[in-house]
Parts: sequence; C-alpha cells; structure tokens
Amino acid sequence: MRILISNDDGYRAKGIQALHQALEGLGELTIVAPDRNRSGASNSLTLDVPVRVGKAEPGTFFVLGTPTDCVHLAISGLFDVDYDLVVSGINDGENLGDDTLYSGTVAAAMEGRFLGKAAVAVSLQHDGTRERHFATAGHFARLIVERLIAAPIQPTPILSVNVPNLPLDQIKGMRVTRLGNRHRSEKVIRATDPRGRTVYWIGPSGAGQDAGEETDFHAVANGYVSVTPLSVDLTRHSEIGTVRGWLAGQ
Ligand code: MN
Repeated sequence: MRILISNDDGYRAKGIQALHQALEGLGELTIVAPDRNRSGASNSLTLDVPVRVGKAEPGTFFVLGTPTDCVHLAISGLFDVDYDLVVSGINDGENLGDDTLYSGTVAAAMEGRFLGKAAVAVSLQHDGTRERHFATAGHFARLIVERLIAAPIQPTPILSVNVPNLPLDQIKGMRVTRLGNRHRSEKVIRATDPRGRTVYWIGPSGAGQDAGEETDFHAVANGYVSVTPLSVDLTRHSEIGTVRGWLAGQ
C-alpha cells in the first residue's frame, strides 16, 4: 500500500505533519506538498514556468507549485511507483459547501481520482478558538483510510472530510452529508500599502446559507465529522432538457 500525502498549507504545516503521524503503519507514506501556503489554489496547474521539486528529507518533497501540481507530478512521472491512495490535509480550516470549489486541499485529492482506490481530503474546522485539534482530525483520517483499504468503494470515490475542532471524546460520530452552501462573501477589504497605493484583500466567506440537516455545515456545527462524497462532473443534468428547448427557441 503506497499512500501519497499532500495539502495546500505547505509541506511544513502542522496539519500535514499530524496527518503523516496519524497514517503511520498503514503503508509506505510519501509527502509531496507545496513549498508554501497555497490555500485557495483550487485545481490550478502551473503551465507557464517549469515546476521545481526539492527533497526536504527522505519521503518528503516540496514543490514550487500548486497542490494540483504536486499530486499531478507525484502520480505522473516524478517517481517510478504507483500510488494506491491520495490523502490531502489536514487543512487548517474547514472546507464546507462552496469552499470546495476554491479549496486546494480538495483539489489535491481530486487530482488523485484516477488512482484505483480513493482520494480523501481532510479539513479541520476553525471555530474562533486558538486551540487546534489536529489529532482529532488525524484519528478520523486514519479510520477512514483503514476502511478504504479494507473495503474499497467503486467507482473510486473522492471523500471530503470535515472535522469539528474538538477533543476526540467530544466528537459525536460521523455523518455522510451533502454540500450545503454559503451566503455571498463579505466585501473585499480595501487598504493602503506603505507606498500609498490602494490594495485589496479578499474578504471572509459568507455564513452557511443552506445549512439544513443533511448538510456538511449542519454535521460539523453539531459535533459530527462530515463525510461528503464528491463528483467531478459539474453538469446540471436536470437542466439539459430546459437548455436544449431554450436554444431551439421553444
Ligand atoms: Mn489551506
């Protein structure tokens, strides 16, 4: 069993170290992750410049590129081996609802979708407190990976796992969820740089809007680990007939 570990917070982030520690003993672990924080990178590939790779220590590689670059390289030629599983995270912050589209953590998992078994993205909720329970997220990452090894799901799933920021004994269990969605984001924040030029910061994401009982938002807010199976197909199948009629002028 060969497991590829990546993330979007960078190869030195606490979360990826916690994930590596949690998965120890389940197989041969290799980290290939960005050299720095690339959160929000989504599924971007670096196409305009060459992608450079460095070795930090045995089994740990950093890439001057995006999370998608990392996994793409790792499974398409950086090494002479094939991986069975990609596990991404543990992201320092939740990836719920619309976050999934922007997330580099989810993108890294998604890039592993052609592998035989599965890809898993693990994210730890931000709840406004300073204490970070990466060990709790690591515990559930291991449970899920163990289960996937023992009983692979077909067709190959991409699982997005979101863990409440709580000590392990306060987690109520795991729930399979669908993505909810957020209210519109807060406005961009305007600031002035030291040279007097106007700059902008992207503002915080909106609160959960569709946070109904079966959603990822609801599970995490109520102390459950949320497990959402994702699909890459963005087609809105139910609209195909409507758009066909609309194009034909009917
Ligand atoms: Mn991140």
